[in-house]
Amino acid sequence: MIKTGLLLALLAGATLQTSAQQPVKLYVFDGGTLKSGNPAPLLERGVTTTDMSVAVYLVVHPRGTLLWDAGVIPDERIQAGGTTDFRATVKKTLKGQLEEIGYKPSDVTYFALSHNHYDHSANANAFAGSTWLVQKAERDAMFSGAQRPTSVNSPSIETVNARFAALKNSKTTLLNGDHDVFGDGSVVIVSTPGHTPGHQSLFVKLAKTGPVLLSGDLYHYPAERTLKDFTPFAALGNPEQETASKAKVEALLKEKGATLWIQHDIIADAKLKKSPAYDD
Ligand SMILES: [Zn+2]
Repeated sequence: MIKTGLLLALLAGATLQTSAQQPVKLYVFDGGTLKSGNPAPLLERGVTTTDMSVAVYLVVHPRGTLLWDAGVIPDERIQAGGTTDFRATVKKTLKGQLEEIGYKPSDVTYFALSHNHYDHSANANAFAGSTWLVQKAERDAMFSGAQRPTSVNSPSIETVNARFAALKNSKTTLLNGDHDVFGDGSVVIVSTPGHTPGHQSLFVKLAKTGPVLLSGDLYHYPAERTLKDFTPFAALGNPEQETASKAKVEALLKEKGATLWIQHDIIADAKLKKSPAYDD
């Protein structure tokens, strides 16, 4: 069964009290690009562009801000002209893009990762002063002490928690499902486990653009939605959970008339407004 009951109840209560105040704004930052580590099976199924975008998002709400995801290469390693690290290339720092619209990391009220993978979490430690919104299952996995490569194909190994060490003592709201971030239904974390134990997506109700849902890595390419048997990344996590999460999200998109923004979809990402422009 699809557990949308609680979420729909939350969203039904969304009266957009904010509409009389400032509208909710959604900024998209340029987080660089990522080459596929294994393009052949993607090309076989009709994915013509296997390169992926990396995006970081800032939601500005009258009651505070939420940073969603944190990039693929830490700002400290971005050189003028750009930096390539194995499959990832980044040209702009996250801090620089925040500064451009008048924010410092310490101004960010809430910080959330779609999940803990390296291509979403590079600058996580910079947001240790924010309130961290994380599924309990994800946090447990993050601080399990397991070791893995610093990035795909990288020869260097780090303890998983090195990328998040500063978050360990952050003010933290542990989640066990969906979460209405500002209490008015306009910005809702949607629990979508599978890719990782506590993977999550983000619903944002925008007055002019309309409601959108940021995918995290629930999908990487649009072909994964159209070809139901095409799940090239399912083996990384829990395929049954991932299938259930996709069904939950597809039902939500239909119910709310929301548009899915696949975060790694480089073709769709190229068409989005980029900060300092924003959607509202
Ligand atoms: Zn990813």
